[in-house]
Amino acid sequence: MKLRLHFVVDPMGWLCISVVFFIWLYNSFFIPYLVLLPHFREGHVSKLVVAGYYLASALCLVALFRASTTDPGRVPQNPHIPHSERDQWELCNKCNMMRPKRSHHCSRCGHCVRRMDHHCPWINNCVGEDNHWLFLQLCFYTQVLSLFTLALDFCQYYYFQPLSKVDMEQFSSRHELALLRISTFMGLLMFGGMSGLFYTQITGILADTTTIEKMSHFMDQMKTARKPWQQTFAEVFGTHWKILWFLPFRRWRPLRDAYHFPSHV
Ligand SMILES: [Zn+2]
Ligand SMILES: [Zn+2]
Repeated sequence: MKLRLHFVVDPMGWLCISVVFFIWLYNSFFIPYLVLLPHFREGHVSKLVVAGYYLASALCLVALFRASTTDPGRVPQNPHIPHSERDQWELCNKCNMMRPKRSHHCSRCGHCVRRMDHHCPWINNCVGEDNHWLFLQLCFYTQVLSLFTLALDFCQYYYFQPLSKVDMEQFSSRHELALLRISTFMGLLMFGGMSGLFYTQITGILADTTTIEKMSHFMDQMKTARKPWQQTFAEVFGTHWKILWFLPFRRWRPLRDAYHFPSHV
């Protein structure tokens, strides 16, 4: 599999994605160091919990990396348009290029993107037809990791027995309460924000519409028959195999083949 990376040059986007990466780092290294691993060593938590925590963390990082570095579906400069499909294309009045209908011009990236959902500064990339599935996985695994972290913070405070082999002079032991509060605050923020976003994304997919179209009331004008939910989700995730909807280590394949172009970065 040939890996092509796509980077958007936008200092504001770099700042936002650094914040997201910092939160991931705090959850993935500091909380296990402070709570998970010491309690595992003293037999208060099982191997399964530790494995589950690291799996959620790894899937979160892969989804973040791939969502931010995958071409969202930029329209090529001189696309070959079959004569029979001409009525499915339109001219973009910002870059003066032909694009398939339901594309949108992203002013941040300076390109037209097929079925663009929105531009997300938190991944410093557009969310379009080719990386929408990775964005959804990122939302999902961020919720799982945040929930895990919140549960560990809660158990550390109310449930776990005190650790017997801990150095009370260590920085993390002396400031444990403050560090747990920071983690709880970030966990609540991430879980709350991601749940709201995930809900709007799922309702959008069920209605077979993008965030931009929803905001411009595009659906009011669209008179297409409603597709079954399995079909709309399969089109977004690029496969009918439901188990693969959860895996970020794979290639996306277009199921709506009419207006798809291979990656051209
Ligand atoms: Zn354009
Ligand atoms: Zn963009």
